[in-house]
Parts: sequence; structure tokens; C-alpha cells
Amino acid sequence: MANLETFNDPFDFHIRKLPEPDPDIQRKRVHINSGVISSMRKLTYDTYEVVITVSGDAPPLNGKAGQYATIQVPGARRPRSYSFAKAPELEKPNEHTFFIRLVHGGKLSSWLADGDRTGEHVIISGPMGKFGLDSSDKTMVCIAGGSGMSAINAIVEHACANQIERDCYFFYGARTQADLYLIDEMRDIERQWNKNYSFKFIPVLSEEEKDSDWDGPRGFVTQHFKKEYLDKGVVNTENIKAFFCGPPPMIDDGVAVLQAAGLSDDDIQFDKFEDARSPAPVVDNTKCVLCDECLLVKPVPNCLVEATNFKVNGGDGVSDFERVQPAHTSGLYYNSLFIDENECIRCYACVEACPHDAISPDYARVPDTLRKI
Ligand SMILES: Cc1cc2nc3c(=O)[nH]c(=O)nc-3n(C[C@H](O)[C@H](O)[C@H](O)COP(=O)(O)OP(=O)(O)OC[C@H]3O[C@@H](n4cnc5c(N)ncnc54)[C@H](O)[C@@H]3O)c2cc1C
Ligand code: SF4
Ligand code: SF4
Repeated sequence: MANLETFNDPFDFHIRKLPEPDPDIQRKRVHINSGVISSMRKLTYDTYEVVITVSGDAPPLNGKAGQYATIQVPGARRPRSYSFAKAPELEKPNEHTFFIRLVHGGKLSSWLADGDRTGEHVIISGPMGKFGLDSSDKTMVCIAGGSGMSAINAIVEHACANQIERDCYFFYGARTQADLYLIDEMRDIERQWNKNYSFKFIPVLSEEEKDSDWDGPRGFVTQHFKKEYLDKGVVNTENIKAFFCGPPPMIDDGVAVLQAAGLSDDDIQFDKFEDARSPAPVVDNTKCVLCDECLLVKPVPNCLVEATNFKVNGGDGVSDFERVQPAHTSGLYYNSLFIDENECIRCYACVEACPHDAISPDYARVPDTLRKI
């Protein structure tokens, strides 16, 4: 048989060896399972720990620490995204733990907060996202705000359980002492961390009363990190990897601080908790190679669809579109993939899955297509 590395065809095209299969491929495929809320407890006045149990014969979600799932609850038409809040090796079989914060007027979080939901049936789909621990030995600088505690907790639990050989600073931004949780668990991680390295948990409060008994740091968490750790050389930008998780403004501020300090984008990872207010991504079909990766990770059936025609709304958006109907519409769907803003839950799984940079929330609202419209 011809060796693919050396074979040249008669037209002198060099055929390269196929890449090795991605060992993580299963993690990138989304499984949709039904599950039951098996326990629920309050972590603070507005944040709940929710455990969902899926049936024993369900395909495993295989989430890595840092990834997320989507959860759909009764009465809600669309799911919402939630980060796995526990290291996978610490979860009981078929259980998935989440930290969910109440958003006033929010469909899913208000449903959850409105009584004991233990025993309720939900749909859980995942895993999604690329956020997670890298394999370097650089100092980990983790910065989380609010419910961003979830993904960072999973990451530091995973690092501790595997006794990884790295130092770690975990800065946690909250408003007041009443918003703090997992303090004892963080002290446990400090004690159980690899003995040759250190783990420090640093909560920073932005709205704590001036005359309260809080003697820890105050202000915005990213600015505290800058002033006390970056500017004073406690951490060295040549030897850190940053992991941010939480609300978009906190992440944007933190990324700007680190970029200004000269940290390369490769050393900054983040998981933005986008919500209904964030823009839906747009597909640039001139970059799309129809590899289907985005379709394999979408959490809802109609968010990302094959369209054959669009109605453009005065140049600033699409007012209507026509889906490809097998056996009815032409298979030559010149307009190709389209994201329906009304169905998209802003999980950005498709943006991360696309290997060709063809999907972005920053692209023009009238998507670029193969056939001009
Ligand atoms: C990758 C990813 C991971 C996430 N992980 C978590 C997590 O671990 N824990 C968690 O609690 N959340 C997380 N979120 C946010 C979560 O998906 C929901 O957006 C959030 O729970 C609100 O859902 P809801 O149904 O209650 O509100 P919705 O019904 O979606 O929104 C209701 C209204 O509230 C506004 N709104 C929505 N969110 C906020 C907000 N945060 N602040 C102010 N107003 C808002 C909207 O504009 C809308 O008008 C994550 C988001 C992403 C994208
Ligand atoms: S279109 Fe993309 S961002 Fe929107 S819900 Fe689907 S996968 Fe998520
Ligand atoms: S992942 Fe990107 S290139 Fe592949 S089908 Fe989706 S948009 Fe096209």
C-alpha cells in the first residue's frame, strides 16, 4: 500500500499524512440526556448548588474541569449554559454539580429559586467549551467573579486531586461578605495542595461596608491583582497562565490588565458568562468549509441551521430566512449556515468549535454568504 507521506499522484499533488485522530474528540460531541435534580442547597442568599443525576445508561457527558453544559427546565423553551462546578474525578457516578446564581426576572434561575426543585426533571446537554487547565508548569493565576466560582472551583479541585506541580493564586471577586462561599473548601485545598508548591485563595470585596469587620482586600478583583501582585512583581508575567471566569466586564478588564503587562494571548484563557443580553454570533459563509463541527456541538436544534434564502432588513440585519427543506429546497444552499438570534442561547459553543474562524459575534449582522443576496 502506498505510504501517504511520500505518495505523489500523477498530477503531482503531494498528499500529506492524515493528522492523528484527536484523543479528545468524544469530549467535543454534545450528548443530550434527561436528568433529575437530586439535590439543591443554598450557598449564599442568591446562589444555589444544584446536583443533577442522569440515568446510569446515559452516555457519559465526559466533561473536563472548566467545560460547561446546558440545562433546560420545565416551562422554559430554551436551555441556559452552566459550568460544571466540581472536578469530574470528585463527582459521584452520573452526577453533575452546578452553582447557579439568581438573576432577578431570569427565567431559569427564578424557577430554581422559587421553591425546592428536588425531583424535577430537566434536560442536560454537554460537554461544551475549551476552557480548562493547560499542561504547562507555569503559575496559575485564576480570577473569578460571582458565579464564575463554578468553573474555577472545578479547575482547582482537579489540579489538587492530581497533585499538579504548579503554584496557584485564586482571586475571587464578590460584592460583600454575604456573597462569599466555599471558604472552608478553599482552606482545605490550600492544605491538600502539592506540598512542594503553594495555593493561595484571595477573596476581594468591592461593596463591603467601610466600617465592617472585613480585614481582607477591597476593590475590584482585577485591579487588586494588578496593584498588589503584578505591579509589585509578586507574580512574573513570563511565568504565568491566567484563567478568568465570570461576567464579561470583569474578564475584559482582567484581559486588558494582563495584555498591558505584556502577557501573550496564548497565556490568557477565559470563560465569559454571556447571557441573553450578549450578541448572537454570525456565520461568515465565505470562510465556512461545511465541516459540520459547529452543528455537532449546538445545544438547541434550531439555533444554527442551513438556510437557502434571507430577507435583509434595511442592511442592518436579517428579518427572515428560509431553511433548507430536504427534498423541497435545492441542496445547493448557497446561503448555507445561519444563526437564528431568536433561538440562539449565546453559549458560543459554535464559535469555539469552528476550526476556520467562520463564526463570531463581531461579524456584520448581515451574514456573508456564497450567493450574494
Ligand atoms: C459558558 C457559560 C457558562 C455559564 N455558567 C454559569 C454558572 O456556572 N452559573 C451561573 O449562575 N450562570 C452561568 N452562566 C449564565 C447563565 O447561562 C444564564 O445566563 C443566567 O443563569 C441567567 O439565566 P436566566 O434564565 O435566569 O435569565 P434569562 O431569562 O436568560 O434573562 C432574563 C433577563 O435578565 C437579564 N440577565 C441575564 N443574565 C443576567 C446577569 N447575569 N445579570 C444581569 N442581568 C441578566 C437578561 O438581559 C434578561 O433580560 C453561564 C453562561 C455561559 C455562556
Ligand atoms: S448558535 Fe452557537 S452560540 Fe447560539 S446557541 Fe447555537 S451553538 Fe450556542
Ligand atoms: S464549524 Fe465553521 S467551517 Fe465548520 S461548518 Fe461550522 S461554520 Fe462552517
